[in-house]
Amino acid sequence: MCGRLDYFLNAFAMLRTDGSKKNWTSLTYNRSPYKPFLLLAVLDFIESGLIVRNFIEPSFELAQTFQSYCDLLLPPERKASMSYPFYHLESAAFWELKPQPGQQHQRGLAVSSVKRLRQLYLGAKFSDDLYPLLQMPGSRDKLRMVLIEKYFSPEIRQTILEHSLLNCQSAVYSTSLLTTQEMFQDFKQTINQSPLVDVDKVRDQGFRKAVVKLYDHRCALCGIKMLTPEGHTIVDAAHIKPWSVSYNDHPTNGIALCKLCHWSYDEGLMSVDHNYLVMISPVVKNDHNLPGHMLTLSDRPVFRPSESRFWPDQENLAWHRRERFTKK
Ligand SMILES: [Zn+2]
Repeated sequence: MCGRLDYFLNAFAMLRTDGSKKNWTSLTYNRSPYKPFLLLAVLDFIESGLIVRNFIEPSFELAQTFQSYCDLLLPPERKASMSYPFYHLESAAFWELKPQPGQQHQRGLAVSSVKRLRQLYLGAKFSDDLYPLLQMPGSRDKLRMVLIEKYFSPEIRQTILEHSLLNCQSAVYSTSLLTTQEMFQDFKQTINQSPLVDVDKVRDQGFRKAVVKLYDHRCALCGIKMLTPEGHTIVDAAHIKPWSVSYNDHPTNGIALCKLCHWSYDEGLMSVDHNYLVMISPVVKNDHNLPGHMLTLSDRPVFRPSESRFWPDQENLAWHRRERFTKK
């Protein structure tokens, strides 16, 4: 087994990456970080139980995690697509693309979007002798460290390592929010033992992942759903009763809201009544500068998770109606 690990440590260290001083700084030794970032995102998914068999789907969640690594280095206006490394990793002997039924793998294609990637491929798999190594924490950590040390300069390595920990911990937190009640204290104790991780960031990201998933990226108040294959969604996860007041991350204190509804909800211009119908403040009716389409949402049922145990808690909604909603 050890010999195989050495072989793959070497393969991870020898990825073909594009070099350009114009596009990449010394933080990545003037080379593209996309392939290492994709592999780091996949390792995080294996570690947090989001990948449980030897098959990597080009999912929205993976694209989002890949993007979150890119955000550590790229300016906000520069958009990366996971499609590029996902497709071009085929040059590494350990990565095998699985074409869609009726399609054949072809080399040298320009696969410039995740949408296109999904039209051509179901996903990818690791070689059969690599996957068992990735499931073992010791060898997985070594492979992760090779990626970080080989492709990133010393000043950025700690940031990338902390980001990986954040991804793994927040995924575990998110899963626990969806499975057990009142686990936050236990969780806090566990992650406090890991000094690299910022508990509030883990909590924020974990809460967000859980709520956005429950609402399937749909705004509870206006019903809009906009999701790009590259991993961008229009919705945020909002606390119904703010964290600073409730210290409650349970999904029944969460609601997915688009940017406009999130702002309007926080400003007290929108709320939810005891029958789960949208409430619009009279302020909106009286101010012609506020978007008129909000009035059409009044008394419409709010979108809720399919399982009623995750619906917004009426006590939390009552708090918002009492403390935040503008009634006149
Ligand atoms: Zn909305």
